[in-house]
Amino acid sequence: MILNQNKKVWCSMNAGMQNYVSINFPDLVPSDFSNEGRVEVSRENKFLSTLTPGKVLGELAILYNCQRTATIKAATDCKLWAIERQCFQTIMMRTGLIRQAEYTDFLKSVPIFKDLPEETLIKISDVLEECYYAHGDYIIRQGARGDTFFIISKGQVKVTIKKKDSLEEKYIRTLGKGDFFGEKALHGDDLRTANIIADDLEGVTCLVIDRDTYIQLISTLDEVRTKYVDDNDDRRRLNEEYANVKLEDLKTISTLGVGGFGRVELVQINGQPNKSYALKQMKKSQIVETRQQQHIMSEKEIMGEANCDFIVKLFKTFKDAKYLYMLMESCLGGELWTVLRDKGHFDDNTTRFYTACVVEAFHYLHSRNIIYRDLKPENLLLDAQGYVKLVDFGFAKKLQTGRKTWTFCGTPEYVAPEVILNKGHDISADYWSLGVLMFELLTGTPPFNGSDPMKTYNVILKGIDAIDFPKNITKNATVLIKKLCRDNPAERLGYQKGGISDIQKHKWFDGFNWEGLINRTLIPPILPKIRGVVDTSNFDPYPPDEGGPPPDDTTGWDANF
Ligand code: AMP
Repeated sequence: MILNQNKKVWCSMNAGMQNYVSINFPDLVPSDFSNEGRVEVSRENKFLSTLTPGKVLGELAILYNCQRTATIKAATDCKLWAIERQCFQTIMMRTGLIRQAEYTDFLKSVPIFKDLPEETLIKISDVLEECYYAHGDYIIRQGARGDTFFIISKGQVKVTIKKKDSLEEKYIRTLGKGDFFGEKALHGDDLRTANIIADDLEGVTCLVIDRDTYIQLISTLDEVRTKYVDDNDDRRRLNEEYANVKLEDLKTISTLGVGGFGRVELVQINGQPNKSYALKQMKKSQIVETRQQQHIMSEKEIMGEANCDFIVKLFKTFKDAKYLYMLMESCLGGELWTVLRDKGHFDDNTTRFYTACVVEAFHYLHSRNIIYRDLKPENLLLDAQGYVKLVDFGFAKKLQTGRKTWTFCGTPEYVAPEVILNKGHDISADYWSLGVLMFELLTGTPPFNGSDPMKTYNVILKGIDAIDFPKNITKNATVLIKKLCRDNPAERLGYQKGGISDIQKHKWFDGFNWEGLINRTLIPPILPKIRGVVDTSNFDPYPPDEGGPPPDDTTGWDANF
């Protein structure tokens, strides 16, 4: 059985890309169709429905540069409110950032939070939920039990206490914006000692967190996640070893693959017949056209510094007028994608081994606050021993502690919902994609799948619980996938106080030899057949490049490459 024949391709949205696709109706939908009139929705000339004032249309196109899935026709004269994608995305990002900063400031004023690191406060602010109360509502009742903590973000509340044997509630004080109550509940003392009543004609808004979420997020005494102090000596030695290699010293053997900006060739250094390398060459003009300059610079920086057995090593970079080049270690076992295509799907054990390799690569990256953002079997290469390594760091990014990033990128089938919704994302998006990878390895197809990216995004937004799990996925694997693919990034396994070791300790990995994996004594499930350092039989053949050489680019944007 041959599954998933079409390789998945990346997607990246840029300010300069076309913002909307024209349809038969006013040019500027997506819109809030809130004003007047009536429109008809049809697909392939088939009437689907009628929309009346108050309805929104084109909401996915507001996020993506995808083809419209339906035609909207004015049935009467209509007036619509419209917003362009760029504008919408900027507003989303700004409001997200403002909200995060405001919540974090609130948290700093609460004594129990004030000594927590900024990074932790940002994490808490991400999980705070907004709750609304009408004038006179009891938010907390004296004597009741509760496990929630509140910060007032709008309006004011009244604190009252009823003395024993008294019927009267005595007014104690008024609390306003920035004040908090119920904090003892976070430490397990759940008996409420006062009444808190909304006391504002315009209503009260509180930011709320419950004990379970709080405890999941915070390890008060010992921060479990280890921060690495890099010993860069090894890496420096490696870089020095290749410092004198020149582009002219490289002899091309054949093509290993084709990436977004050009081919990856198997090469040898003249005079070194026992070794081979992969040379990734990228057309500068194409990088500029798709506005990926920043991503490429970051790829070079992150790969050039990484020193991990589960990440392909970059030894040296070159450039000329037309291309940028990256000289890397060659992984001659081929892409995991090819192995998966030929086998259909993997069993539990095989999937566990490859997933564990990715967990180790993520452990390395995430503890340095680097997000990878492009996990898929196409980007996992088998080395001669059969261990897998991450390749293609075109979307990897080093984040500032506790900060998020907003660039839409990744491969549709693997992107997390918060990326689709432009809410800002961080390393937790990688845990989502790890769940997707497990599913694809076990079944041969990723769980969220549509005939075009827009449909795929729609399926992703419905969540993992709407997906049918085939019987061959074991219960433990299902549980782990579902824990990784949580809609709420803060709830994903790997992102909580135990960090990535929560994944390593999960039942699905019971008995797995992590030490053997790290020491490379564990025997991989599939041993690639490689007959020598220039054997490319594990790679698909690639026809020669069509079209002539790309134009020169000597503008100098790549000076630091
Ligand atoms: P990339 O542009 O980095 O995604 O690379 C495109 C394809 O080239 C990959 O999917 C692999 O098939 C192949 N490739 C890239 N790097 C290497 C490498 N270090 N060793 C072997 N093949 C590679």
